[in-house]
Amino acid sequence: MSEVGCLAGDRDGIIGMRLIDDWDIQHLRIDRWHSSEGISMQQVSVKGSCLCGSVRFEIRPPVSGFRYCHCGRCRKATGSAHAANIFLPESQFRWLAGESLIKRFNLPGAKRFAVCFCTQCGSRVFHKTPTTENVLIPAGLLESDPGVRPDSNIFWGSRAEWCPETAEIPKFDEYPG
Ligand SMILES: [Zn+2]
Ligand SMILES: [Zn+2]
Repeated sequence: MSEVGCLAGDRDGIIGMRLIDDWDIQHLRIDRWHSSEGISMQQVSVKGSCLCGSVRFEIRPPVSGFRYCHCGRCRKATGSAHAANIFLPESQFRWLAGESLIKRFNLPGAKRFAVCFCTQCGSRVFHKTPTTENVLIPAGLLESDPGVRPDSNIFWGSRAEWCPETAEIPKFDEYPG
């Protein structure tokens, strides 16, 4: 199969093109995505997985939002300076494997803060956000470019004292010499 699909908005502002393989053709079906668009309007799906690879899923852009969250809860939940969260409607999300391996922790007292994780490798994975139609996808799970960039840093005032603007930190492609 050699149809060409488009993924708009890549790094250079050029329309990225790639071949759609047989698997994509089988699965990018309009009924799967509850879409009324024609197949020619479909975006190429983006796959994601946890660290051990047992939990796998795919999403279909466009996404509703992409934020870095610097709140204290996200810091604890990720063990990092901030979360990198993509939001999109649940209808644009699809399981591929590992749903039964996921455990969910709802933070007591929080309206909607939760952590879902793979019980085999501990990677934080996506979850449905209560009171919205969206699922939250930790962006680090994605295996290719979703075609969007973070639109904001939220809870910036809560950021860790040790978290400067990344532009201020020296960069190395691998471990420094
Ligand atoms: Zn895993
Ligand atoms: Zn947060």
